[in-house]
Amino acid sequence: MDNNAAKPSSSRLVIRNIGLLLSGDINRPILDADTIVAIDGRIASVGKEKDLATAGSAFTAATTIDAKGTAVAPGLIDSHVHPVAGDWTPRQNQIGWIDSCMHGGVTTMISAGEVHTPGRPKDVLGLKAMAIFAQRAFQAFRPGGVHVLAGAPVIENGMNEQDFKELAAAGVKFLGEIGLGSVKDGPTARQMVSWARSHGIQSTIHTGGPSIPGSGLIDKDVVLEADTDVIGHINGGHTALPDDQIIALCEKSPRALEIVHNGNERAALLALRTAKDLKQLRRIILGTDSPAGSGVQPLGILRVIALLSALGDVPAEIAICFATGNTARMRNLDCGLIEPGRASNFVLMDKAQHSAGKNLLDSIHLGDLPGIGMVIIDGVVSAQRSRNTPPATKVPEILEN
Ligand SMILES: [Zn+2]
Repeated sequence: MDNNAAKPSSSRLVIRNIGLLLSGDINRPILDADTIVAIDGRIASVGKEKDLATAGSAFTAATTIDAKGTAVAPGLIDSHVHPVAGDWTPRQNQIGWIDSCMHGGVTTMISAGEVHTPGRPKDVLGLKAMAIFAQRAFQAFRPGGVHVLAGAPVIENGMNEQDFKELAAAGVKFLGEIGLGSVKDGPTARQMVSWARSHGIQSTIHTGGPSIPGSGLIDKDVVLEADTDVIGHINGGHTALPDDQIIALCEKSPRALEIVHNGNERAALLALRTAKDLKQLRRIILGTDSPAGSGVQPLGILRVIALLSALGDVPAEIAICFATGNTARMRNLDCGLIEPGRASNFVLMDKAQHSAGKNLLDSIHLGDLPGIGMVIIDGVVSAQRSRNTPPATKVPEILEN
């Protein structure tokens, strides 16, 4: 009997012959398993193929993937992007940038504000309308299959608690970077962050010097007083705070420490080292801050992983957690970890051809980027061999059923 007869449309995915399973969980980054079974876009089971019912009626897969001994990790999460509309950014006048990031392993992006929208409204009604529009539009339109969690209002002076209540009721879950609008002082930011939090909306803040003409300085005192859920680009965007202020943020706040590609690399390593000394690497999360003045970085998350692993001397399997499980936990997402119930978003990687590394993890620790062989979002293959990474040595294969 078909156990799933009641749900004839359910889609099943089996990934077998996994050579290395990276969990995204910083407490246990490598799992002793070679097979993942996913049903209807959710991970159903993880284990050894011989122990899992991958064959037979209950688990007849709609799609079977032979990983060919390559590594599987959760799809990468970019904690800091600035989308506008569709797969277009006016910042560098590019189209297709989100799809291009998917080829860098990113399956989820979190908006830190749709600030590059030409003519962005700054009155309270207008900014709320734009946030709700962006949330709806990106929920319905997914370039390359990527989940863009958009609709992040940039708060302005004059907002009251009712505004946050309305935004939350309309589906808004994140604030844009505080500091990009007119609210730049600690007391006002703190009040609005607490209103947002009480209605289930997360917050982040622009940390450091102005990113482009028109944005401002946010120093450690404002960041600590505002107490946002995420200390946005603790390594600056691009201008970083003085070292003593970065260290103080790591020591005095319990919040997420976000390191971005579009930031100061030396400050990134300082934040990493400080978090390591505090035994709080679980607070490190990664973003690109793209599109930015420095451009769109389709491999930006992979590049930060390699940077932190190689120069920050963190094992590659831990650095990958910064862009997966850490972000998922700090930001309450349903993806980012290989465990039953989580979204079946995966990136399949191998060491790049001719890397000097002995294997994938060693190659990243040496500073090389991995080669991506496949990206899967919600149990559906979004890309096979990446068009952007260096070519993977081995690539997975979709088997005929
Ligand atoms: Zn910023």
